[in-house]
Parts: sequence; structure tokens; C-alpha cells
Amino acid sequence: MFSKKTFMTNENGVAVNNDKTSLKAKETGDVLLRDVYLHQKLRAFNRERIPERVVHAKGAGAHGYFKVTKNMNKYCCAKFLSRVGKKTDIFARFSTVGGPSGSSDYDRDPRGFALKFYTEHGNYDIVGNNTPIFFIREAIKFPDFIHSQKKNPQSNCPDANIFWDFISLNPETAHQVVILFSDRGIPANHRQMHGFGSHTFKWYNSKGEYFWIKYHFKTNQGIDNITNADLKNMADLNPDGATKDLFNAIKEKNYPSWTCYVQIMTQEEADECDFDIFDITKVWSQKDYPLQEFGVFTLNRNVEDYFCEVEQAAFSPANFVAGIAPSPDPLLQGRLFAYQDAHLHRLGPNYIQIPINHPKNVEGVHNYSQNGVHRHQSIHPVGVNYYPNSMAEISEDKTSTHAIEPPHCIKERKFEVDDFSQAHDLYANVMTLKEQHNFQENVIEHLKGVTDNDILIRTVELFYNIDHDLGKAIAKNFNIEVSF
Ligand code: NDP
Repeated sequence: MFSKKTFMTNENGVAVNNDKTSLKAKETGDVLLRDVYLHQKLRAFNRERIPERVVHAKGAGAHGYFKVTKNMNKYCCAKFLSRVGKKTDIFARFSTVGGPSGSSDYDRDPRGFALKFYTEHGNYDIVGNNTPIFFIREAIKFPDFIHSQKKNPQSNCPDANIFWDFISLNPETAHQVVILFSDRGIPANHRQMHGFGSHTFKWYNSKGEYFWIKYHFKTNQGIDNITNADLKNMADLNPDGATKDLFNAIKEKNYPSWTCYVQIMTQEEADECDFDIFDITKVWSQKDYPLQEFGVFTLNRNVEDYFCEVEQAAFSPANFVAGIAPSPDPLLQGRLFAYQDAHLHRLGPNYIQIPINHPKNVEGVHNYSQNGVHRHQSIHPVGVNYYPNSMAEISEDKTSTHAIEPPHCIKERKFEVDDFSQAHDLYANVMTLKEQHNFQENVIEHLKGVTDNDILIRTVELFYNIDHDLGKAIAKNFNIEVSF
């Protein structure tokens, strides 16, 4: 698009013949008010920032493709999954959660793991994390949770008291806390971590049968992490290191890839389950519900413009295609609203017309919406902006497979709250002794920032409930008598 011979223009396409000095009455005189190119340049600069994401602000992204490796037609009628070897363009964005856009890539924090599939039946997004679970199970707690993980509203500094206050008052956080303070709490880069859809979703086939599923994306680069000690030793650690790593790997044609799996559960199996399968603080044991491979995705193209493609990328867990639907997971249901709302705030009412967000493999986007800030593409028929209309140039697609989404039929059941068994399983049965030791060190290091004794005691109690020996070891470190 650009060559060395491309000439500079102003935003209106008019040639610019001097971009080094302003127009002046005389060579040493005052700048002229009529230097409209200068105005345009300064105005554009003043408006370069848009509201940053309130969470997942620091991120990196790349383009690539998804390829089907196993036939899933038995479970899901999504067109992009319909044939082995079928390829679909994707865009991926990885991020930390709590830090602002200029913060370090190496915070101890979950990593966002968002995928946009540009399918020929519309865009499908999986907006997950690098962990299979989450801290809370109800969307109504999300703003409180995030406030507690960010800076103190008075000092504007990180505050271990508010961090652990929230955690210890909300024991459903226990499982995620065990992952967060484990060796996998600080991924070395975005290529060497797994991804998860985290929520339970519904897949349905063309016969109208449905299944509950969970997505797993296993890195093919091998897991790599950074320890607290590494952080201390790496005084010159580049805060953009993971961003740079992804960019350079793709630039050097060392394309990262992830193998895609699902765990699948029938409604009958769900009815027999002794835990709530829609509770995002729980995993489904891979021994009971083995991972079934269905594809692989590869990132093979860097963005050309970070702002246009990564900063303006708008993922939403509400973007489904026929064959896939939400489950009654209450956190997911809240996210169905929150993400679209965040994009409307950051990018405006026509954010889906921004090229990175626009469906690119469909025959077209057609409905009767119109107008709004920055709409630059008319999507209704010429002269007709209401429905039904007697011209009926575009009408409902009664053949769409959305129509066959089967209603689910879940038994009303009450589950005993169990926030600790799976957290215990990870700590006591999956981690090696060395990993358990590192975990204790990581927690103790962070807890040194707590100055409120009640919060400290409650936090020790939380760890005691995860694993008695773990709780005792942490208590001993802080000279706390355990009498739970
Ligand atoms: P398995 O015993 O079959 O496998 C253990 C899983 O834990 C593997 O997927 C492994 O990842 C992963 N793992 C190992 N260390 C960590 C860590 N520090 N943080 C996060 N994950 C880690 O698992 P089960 O399904 O029987 O579940 C046992 C426990 O494993 C669960 O309580 C849960 O905490 C954890 N887990 C379970 C997952 C699931 O979806 N079932 C997914 C991830 C973790 P890898 O594949 O790289 O070896």
C-alpha cells in the first residue's frame, strides 16, 4: 500500500509539502492561525487515547487460522467444525487482567485468552483465560472482585489487605487462588501457556440433541513460567517481554499453535454429577470426562497496527454461531451483557463495523439498524429501514440452524457448597512436593504485605480449609496459633 514514493497528505487527502515547520508570517514571526494542517496534527494527537479496558487492558494479539482435526458433527452442527481439514481465520488476544495498559506482562495474575473465529456463518468468540476456573461464580460480585485486585482507592497503590480481604471473605476463590500462587501463576510468555473456555457451553447437533462442553487449548510450545525469584533476579526484565516474544516468534516464522479439545457431558451425565456443572469455580475431572481433540489453531501473522487491530478488538462471550449456545452459568450470563456494554463505551455504537470486529467471511451483514456515531456502512436495503415491509428485500432466515437450538432440561438440584475439595486436589495430589513448597513461599511473600491481623487470620483459615498442613505452615510463618 505504501512505497517510498508515496506522498504525505493531510487527513482529507490533500498534499502536505512541509511537515517540519509551521506557517509563519515571516521566518521568525508568530505561527499563523491559518496553518490548518498544524491544527489537524495537534488535534489528532490530543485524541489518540480511548478509554482503556477496565480489565484485560494490557494485551498482545495476532492473526492465524483454526483447522478441524476431528469430526465433531455428532455433537455440534457449527459450520466451521463441519469437516476435517476445514480452516477458519481467527484473531487471538492474550492479556493480563488487573494491570493498566502500560503495566508489566509478568504480574501474578490470570491471563486472558480470547479467540475470534471469522466463520462463514458469522463471528464466534471464545473469551477465556489461561485457567480452567475463575475466582467467583456470580457476575454480581465481579466489580467488587476486580476493585479488590486493583489499587487502593485512597492511596492508589497495590494493597495486600484489600486483596486478601476479598479472597478470605469469598471462599469460592480458593481453587483459583491455588492456581494463581502455583508455579503457573506467572506464565513466561503468551505462547507457553494453555487456554480454557472456562465456562460450560452448550453444543447441539443437526438432530437437535445437545451436550454440555468445556474447551481446553493446550499449548504446543510446552508450558513455561516465571518464579518470584526469577522476577527478582531479572532486574532488567522487559515489562513488554511477553508481547515482544509473541511478535518476534511470528516474525521469525516460529508460529505458535495450540491443540483444541473439548470435554463433553450429556444431560443424563450432568444429572448424575455430584457438583454443579455450571459453577465456574469447578473443573470436570479429565479422568471422568476425557479431553477429545477437535482442532488446532496457529498464529502466523502479526498485526500491522496495534491500535487498529489489538486495542480495538472487541471480543464477547455473547458472540455465538449456530451449533453453540450459552449455558446457565451465572457468571457467563452476566458476561453476555457486560462485554458488549464495555465495547459500546470504549468504541461506540458501531464498533462491529471496525474491520477487526467485522464479520469477514459472511456473504454480508444485513438488517434494519441504522445511524449512530461512526457508522460508515449501510446495512439495510436502499430506502427501506423497517421490518416487516412490503418490499421485503431482506427477511428472516427460517432455515438458520439457530432455530433448532434445543431447549435444555436441567433437573432442579441443590448442591452442598464445596469450595475446597478441588483446590485441595490440585494442591495435594497434582503438585509435586517442590511445587507445594514454591506455592507456600509465593503465598507467604504476598501475605507479608497484609497489615490487618483479622484479614491475615481469615486468610490462614482459608488455606487451612484447602489443606490442613498448608494452613499450619503459613500460620507458623506468621506466628499464628491455629485453633480452627
Ligand atoms: P488430572 O489429574 O487428570 O490432571 C491434572 C491437571 O492439572 C493437568 O491438566 C495439568 O496440566 C494441570 N496442572 C498441573 N499443575 C497445575 C497448576 N499449577 N495449575 C493449574 N493446572 C495445573 O486432573 P483432574 O481433571 O483429575 O483434576 C485434578 C485437579 O487438576 C483439579 O482439581 C484442578 O485443580 C486441576 N486441573 C484440572 C483441569 C480439568 O479441566 N480437569 C484442568 C487444569 C487443572 P497439564 O495438562 O499441563 O499437565
